[in-house]
Amino acid sequence: MGISISRGDITLQHVDAIVNAANSSLMGGGGVDGAIHRAGGPAILDACRDLRASQYGKGLPTGQAVATTAGRLRARWVIHTVGPVYSETEDRSALLASCYRESLRVADELGAASVAFPAVSAGVYRWPVESAARIAVATVRETATEVADIRFVLFNDEVYTAFERALG
Ligand code: ADP
Repeated sequence: MGISISRGDITLQHVDAIVNAANSSLMGGGGVDGAIHRAGGPAILDACRDLRASQYGKGLPTGQAVATTAGRLRARWVIHTVGPVYSETEDRSALLASCYRESLRVADELGAASVAFPAVSAGVYRWPVESAARIAVATVRETATEVADIRFVLFNDEVYTAFERALG
């Protein structure tokens, strides 16, 4: 398994699966979620609606992951995962780690050889970037997976630098 980082827009990645930092409703949102739905087109939202109408009637729980079509994106699948909102009073690190582990589990089920991750929870959900990067890198390193190419695609310099440090 190879882990790499790059700066840029995750929707432009040529990978088998792009991970979306979704919210529990699966109905789209801002940040990377909005960018993925805009670039991938309505097929992704249609697939999310189907999930809400079937096994995820109450939404996708925090820390879990589920795949849909990637619509018009170059990828074959979008893997939606719901990061925890950062809390100063409660340690939610295990839920953030679970997002990466569960996304890789879903990627293995799909047979994806390459997966691109954003910095889950490090935007609107306010997770401090150094900590978000450490948890992301440590979890991916610890997870047994068939995915050969794991890329973190970071949208700004601050997050990119934090991931660079976490990779060591
Ligand atoms: P969350 O709600 O999980 O915090 P956000 O989408 O708000 O999710 O932010 C997660 C990270 O994704 C942030 O670091 C943000 O800068 C980044 N991001 C936003 N748009 C993109 C994009 N097009 N490609 C990659 N990363 C992005």
